[in-house]
Amino acid sequence: MSTLHTGARTHRRVLPQPAALESVPADNPGVGTKRGTDIPRTAQAGRRDTGVQHGRGETTGGAPVPGGVAAVPAGRKPSSTKQHSATQQNRTTRITSSPKQSRFTADNAVVFVLDRHKRPLMPTDCKRAKKLLARGRAVVHRKVPFTIRLKDRTVDQSMLEPLGLGIDPGSQHTGLSLDKTVEAVDESTGEVTTTRTGLWLGQLDHRGQHIHLRLVARAQRRRGRRGRNLRHRAARNRNRSVRVGWLPPSVQHRVDSTMTCVTRLQSLAPIASLRLERVSFDTHAMTAPGISGLEYQQGTLAGTEIREYLLAKFCHRCVYCDATGVGTGSVPLNIDHLLPRARGGTNRVSNLVLACVRCNQAKGARSVDAFVTDGVRRARIKAEAKTPLRDAAAMNACRNRLAAELDATGLPVEWASGGRTKWNRVRNGVPKDHSLDALCVGAVDVIVRWVPTVLHIQCVGRGRYQRVTTDRFGFPRSHRPRRKQHYGFITGDLVKAVIPTGPKAGVYRGRVIVRSTRTFRLVTPTHRYDGINCRYMTTMQRGDGYSYKARPSLQRRLAPHGDQTKAA
Ligand SMILES: [Zn+2]
Repeated sequence: MSTLHTGARTHRRVLPQPAALESVPADNPGVGTKRGTDIPRTAQAGRRDTGVQHGRGETTGGAPVPGGVAAVPAGRKPSSTKQHSATQQNRTTRITSSPKQSRFTADNAVVFVLDRHKRPLMPTDCKRAKKLLARGRAVVHRKVPFTIRLKDRTVDQSMLEPLGLGIDPGSQHTGLSLDKTVEAVDESTGEVTTTRTGLWLGQLDHRGQHIHLRLVARAQRRRGRRGRNLRHRAARNRNRSVRVGWLPPSVQHRVDSTMTCVTRLQSLAPIASLRLERVSFDTHAMTAPGISGLEYQQGTLAGTEIREYLLAKFCHRCVYCDATGVGTGSVPLNIDHLLPRARGGTNRVSNLVLACVRCNQAKGARSVDAFVTDGVRRARIKAEAKTPLRDAAAMNACRNRLAAELDATGLPVEWASGGRTKWNRVRNGVPKDHSLDALCVGAVDVIVRWVPTVLHIQCVGRGRYQRVTTDRFGFPRSHRPRRKQHYGFITGDLVKAVIPTGPKAGVYRGRVIVRSTRTFRLVTPTHRYDGINCRYMTTMQRGDGYSYKARPSLQRRLAPHGDQTKAA
């Protein structure tokens, strides 16, 4: 960071200082300064070398939280006294409640099955998996997502049904859905109906924003260092460039973590095809004559596509009064015909604009020339309506790259639009949820049912490269250990701790945060426990950069496939 030793630091008023960096306690709750001034005397007594107590120091304040628990406010110290004062009553309740902590599987949730050579077979349910395990025909292969391996079966001896994987990429969350789609032909009419069953639902939580903030902090630190009054550094050549197809790290991360999930699911289930929601709307599906009224809201596929298209084209705004359809003070937006239908106006997209309810009613059956008196605005509305929205503008870089990477897997990929997803969702009465959106991606008529649990997969990273922690002026404060592994554990490992006696007696399962001392922190889906000695711990599953948590999935609100409308 700085060439000055911390002990001989210049007074902060003398030299131009960089902007204040992130606060140190936010990085390492419970860890004080190098001199240990922030640490209470009771906690300090047991520590020989404060400042190197922390492990890899994954951020817990404002950053993705391991185990999905609420973050402890920055600077809060681990209170050992509180845990010691736990009464006998608390102890017994904790022991009895501890089996409930393992929320990683639920009844009826899917269990992935591998054959004896670790190749994927058809997933099964919990009940059958329990039987197979009890009879000794299978062993547990992986805890999360729960996977068993059959000892007496190979792929060649099994019947496999092709499964599909739906992907609904988003900036913060990506929905994933492993499902089975079946086509049934009606003998009398020859009509083909596609039905889909959701076998596994997942939601991937990205940490793009976290990566962005870390990079901004690094840039600020470097900028501050450049302007500091240090030894002369010759200017470097401007010979640096980005390679073709470069994406910002926060965007690249979204592509990479999604592909990681796809690849891992491929190794757990017989996935035969992929479906990706690639664009918000499909311009080819919009050309349907004779759409009117409610159909734009909840009717045909073409109506939904047009609505999504217009929302994107006019940025969720009324063209007449600029009232917005999103955020605070939003108003409902209608679709308005520039030349009204009554006067021979068509349903072509170039004749459609967005209008708030008030403007739409005030305009009535008048044409835009009669309604808008402001000549400038009138010309602008007409020009905007005529301009086609380029598809490329609606697709962002992330989705394009993801599409290319999915293509490279060699599996058939179906490109779908967000308009179709919404249409499928509304007419099947499927609630709005990231993972259920993934279930609705692509061409489908009826969505029969889906599993009752969603697996939350949260990107938490594998630590950071930075070994020196700095104070808020950019001066080195302490050094992290070079090793990631301490006593056989790495931060992020899923462990089981069995504590036989003492105030913390009980059985705990969760992610571990390692320390260079022997006492680790354990994060369960509901609590965090500090100061657990590593000799009580056994590894259930190695850390893989993600934390997992199961939650109940949303269930259908309307009658199943009530108002079905066939695609136009
Ligand atoms: Zn308006």
